[in-house]
Amino acid sequence: MADAGPGYSRGSDQKSFALRAVPVYRFVQLNREHDGTGKLMDTSKLYADLISSIGEDLNRDGLHKTPERAARAFSFLTQGYQQSLDDIVNGAVFDSDNEEMVIVKDIELYSLCEHHMLPFVGRAHVAYLPQGKVLGLSKVARITDMYARRLQIQENLTKQIAETILQVTHAAGVGVVIEAQHFCMMMRGVQKQNSWTVTSMMLGEFRKSARTRQEFLQLIRS
Ligand code: ZN
Repeated sequence: MADAGPGYSRGSDQKSFALRAVPVYRFVQLNREHDGTGKLMDTSKLYADLISSIGEDLNRDGLHKTPERAARAFSFLTQGYQQSLDDIVNGAVFDSDNEEMVIVKDIELYSLCEHHMLPFVGRAHVAYLPQGKVLGLSKVARITDMYARRLQIQENLTKQIAETILQVTHAAGVGVVIEAQHFCMMMRGVQKQNSWTVTSMMLGEFRKSARTRQEFLQLIRS
């Protein structure tokens, strides 16, 4: 971005032109980087409008590149829309005669609530009872991320992860617990900074058997 490229020195008063034109130039540059889809270009433009709408000056030093940075950040935080389950699992489902519970706990979770587009952050705990197939452990975290990096509510996120693990592994049961803190409750609204929202989804054996459920809940608390 430091290299302004062709067209930058247009006009006789280069300095004042640069102040005015740099944001416009950035949109064009981003468009090119994004294979001409214009997606990121539009998003950075929207961020520029958003910043202007609160009366801020887009040309002041600290904000010069903010629309572009915010667009990139937003694109990263919502990249789950561009990902597919097949690409993420990528064949990492293996035959196994292990029938003991597999638990991946304390998976860091960063998502955006779909009502305010503010973060909710916390941990996910995922368990399943294999019956013939196991899933590469890192894939559990990647599946969690794929759904977390969309606009979400915690309840749906929990359900989507559980159903996907079941679908991929054909397990006898799946349990998912998510504990998260919601910035829309912390920074605004009721302003409760210390409340945690806990959601769970139990499928198959985890729903049928209190013992299985208990074992899971005990193991994630230990
Ligand atoms: Zn919210």
